[in-house]
Parts: sequence; C-alpha cells; structure tokens
Amino acid sequence: MEQIPELMLYDTYQRELRPFKPLEPGKAGLYACGPTVYDYAHIGNLRTYLFGDVLRRVLALNGYQVTHVLCITDVGHLTSDADTGEDKMEKGSRRTSQSAWEIAEFYTRAFQQDLAQLHIQAPTVWARATQHIEEQIAFIAEIERNGFAYRTADGIYFDTQRLERYGHLARLNIAGQQSGHRVDIRDKRSATDFALWKFSGAEQRQMEWDSPWGRGFPGWHIECSAMSTRYLGALFDIHIGGEDHIPVHHTNEIAQHEACHSHPPARYWLHGAFLKLEGGDKMSKSDGGFLRLATVAERGYDPLAYRYLALSAHYRSPLSFSWDALDAAHTALGRLRQACHRLPDGGRPDPAYRQAMLANLNQDLNTPRALALMWELLKSPLPGAVQKATIRWLDQVLGLRLDEWTPPRHAIPEPVQQLAAARDLARSERRWADADATRLAIEAAGFAVRDTAAGTIVEPR
Ligand code: AMP
Ligand code: ZN
Repeated sequence: MEQIPELMLYDTYQRELRPFKPLEPGKAGLYACGPTVYDYAHIGNLRTYLFGDVLRRVLALNGYQVTHVLCITDVGHLTSDADTGEDKMEKGSRRTSQSAWEIAEFYTRAFQQDLAQLHIQAPTVWARATQHIEEQIAFIAEIERNGFAYRTADGIYFDTQRLERYGHLARLNIAGQQSGHRVDIRDKRSATDFALWKFSGAEQRQMEWDSPWGRGFPGWHIECSAMSTRYLGALFDIHIGGEDHIPVHHTNEIAQHEACHSHPPARYWLHGAFLKLEGGDKMSKSDGGFLRLATVAERGYDPLAYRYLALSAHYRSPLSFSWDALDAAHTALGRLRQACHRLPDGGRPDPAYRQAMLANLNQDLNTPRALALMWELLKSPLPGAVQKATIRWLDQVLGLRLDEWTPPRHAIPEPVQQLAAARDLARSERRWADADATRLAIEAAGFAVRDTAAGTIVEPR
C-alpha cells in the first residue's frame, strides 16, 4: 500500500515542525486574521491569504474537511498598535468622505474580488467584527470577572502582568519591554497592557456601541477571540496570519483566551513571511505607495501570475517583489498552460511523482519544491497523458486553473481560423490531400496544428 507522508506544520508557538493531529478525526478548524477594510489590500496582504489558501488546499488534499473562518476587521484597529491614534476606519471615512460603514462595505467587496481573482477559495464563514459586538462584550466581561481587566480614563485594559506566560508566542522579553517602552496611555499599568474596550469620550465617532463600561468600541484583539470561539469553539486546530501578528495581535489574543480558558485558542500557530519591495522596502497600506492586484492586471499580467510568484517561494521565506520576478512568473505560467493544453487527456497520475509532490507539500507546504517536481515531470519520458493527469492532480493545491485555460482566440488571425475550418471540412469529407494542404498553409503562417476528437486546434508556435 502507498505510504502517505505525514503532514508536518511549523508551529510558531512551539518553534518546531509538528505532525498535524486534528482535534476531531477528518476535520480541521482554521481561523485566519483578515484585512482591516479601510483601504484596498496590497499584494503583500494578498501573499498572506495565498499562504492560507495553500494550507487549506493541502489540508483538503489530505482528506480533511476544513472549516475556514476569515475575519474582516471593520472597527477598532487603531493607527498605532499601542492603542493610541485614530481608528483606521474613521480615518478612512474622512479621507474618502464616505461613512465608515460605507467604506467597510466597499473595501470588503474589493477584497473579496481580489481573492476570487487569485483563485483563493472563499472561507466557510466571513466573520465581521461589527456584527459580533455582543460576543466581544461577553468575552470582555468574562475576562473582567476572572480579574484580568482594569479601568483607565480611556477604556478597559488587559492586565498582562497577571498572566505568567504572557508573550510566550513571541518569546517577548517582558522585563526589557517594560523598561524600554514608553507607557503612552495615562494610567495604563504596564507597557504591554492593551485595550479591550475604548470609550468614545469626547471623540465624534460613527461606529460606537453601549456596553457595561460605557459607550465606545472594542479593542482590536478581542474580535478574534470572540469570533473564533463562536465559530470554532474554545479550542480549535490552526490559527494563521502574517508574521507581524506574532508580537502584538496574536500574543494578545492568546492572553485574552488564557484569561478565560487557561489555554491558547489554537493548537497550531502558523505565520506567513512578508512580501517586500525589491531593495528591502516595506509594503504598507498606511504609507500610500502600495501595489494593488488591480495595478498588476492593468499592466497586462494575469493575476494568477502573481499566484505563481507567491507559490515559487516558501511561505516562511521573505519574498521580494519586482516586475522582473513577476515577468518570470508570467512566462512560467504561460509555458505551463501551453504544455498542459497540448498534452493528451485520458491518463492517470504517476504514483511516484504524486507521492513526491505530496511529500513536499506535507513538509510544511513546500510549494517551490512541488513546482520544481512539476517541471521535472514535464521533461520526463513519462507519457503525455500521465504528465497531464499528474499536473491536474497537483493543481488542486496550486490553484492555477490549468485545466480551464485555452489559447486566447484573438491570437489566431481570421484567415488561419478559416484554414482550420476548411481543414475540418476536408477531413470530414476524406479529402486527405486538401487536409494536408491546409495544414501546410497553417504551419507556413506560423501556427501549429493539433488534431483532436473535437476537430482541428490551431495554436501559436
Ligand atoms: P491589515 O489589513 O493591515 O490588517 O493586514 C492584513 C494581513 O496582511 C495581515 O495578516 C498582515 O499580517 C498581512 N500583511 C501586511 N503586510 C504584509 C506584507 N507586506 N506581506 C505579507 N503580508 C502582509
Ligand atoms: Zn486576529
């Protein structure tokens, strides 16, 4: 019997590769921190969701039924991660002179379109922070009952000093943090304490709610604690996000959860490395100079070329974006499509290649190795139909829609299309000499001819 290689995932919490063992056999609960919808996503953000998509597809390939919850942060994320500054949604509202609710709706839709263009599977549950205020208030109330919350002039704060293991995920040096950081909120007890609920105070806000502590809005981290518990339970399998979430957002999510359940919410924590700009510059939403998927498409690239580029790097390795790198991905994707299109149907995946590809995907999602094996397969002496079936199988994870691709029609000039039609007619009437003559004419015009059951297919050479 074929040995299925075990799925190993790198868990940031334990800092090691661990075999994936689900809480419930055959099922996997996956929670992903989503975008703050005050602006478009940039292609760096999208790299993180591509990583989540690969994880989800690899889980499915291993036979797991995945419940994937993706949150939409539409309130409470302040311009500074230290609980100061303005709510990004309210700020976005002033920038666009639309209401905070309108921009949340607008950018959520834009985000969903970006995901679809990249063939990222839609989550099982879209969880919006503003639609779960009650759950967040209940969560804060429990933290307070357990003695981990205190009141300041501007909100309800989490008392991080009461948790022995605070900061374990990030291996935070708490002593160093406390002395090195300015405490920028008046009457906050220590630098690492964070807001659970902020009071509206004198500030004019569009998004605010009543709570047992006063009118205001939730802190940024509580939404994920409340929504992951609601949809996946108090303990679930995998929590993911970008690597920037390790020191603050996920650290604080864990603290909130520990205060109520005495354990972190998830059993595996996976983090995707950042996309950088060539030269090492950061790509950031708030700086304005960021690159959107729409810009990539406007420059004539298929969005799936960006997907290919992301797959060509391991999710835990930094990736530098450059137009040259995208060009190379675009060319590779084109070659792959052509190859797949030309190869005959009717084969079965090659067991050895399938095994090797799965082994690499199961080794912490090694997509670059899986891609390398695919190119090796295309050069192998295996029958074309076997190659095609194997690549199709792998595309369940790559998600490059290789099966759906056909050469663009406009690439074939009208006279050549007419020659192809004439050739089909000649063949159906068994006029072989005429059929051969049209083939030569098509080839002389620089195109290749392929005979299929459905008729003549003409392709650029
Ligand atoms: P935000 O909308 O700023 O809350 O970020 C949404 C997601 O994108 C988070 O999971 C971040 O970790 C991730 N992210 C932000 N910048 C980058 C980047 N340059 N490369 C990869 N992921 C990023
Ligand atoms: Zn989160």
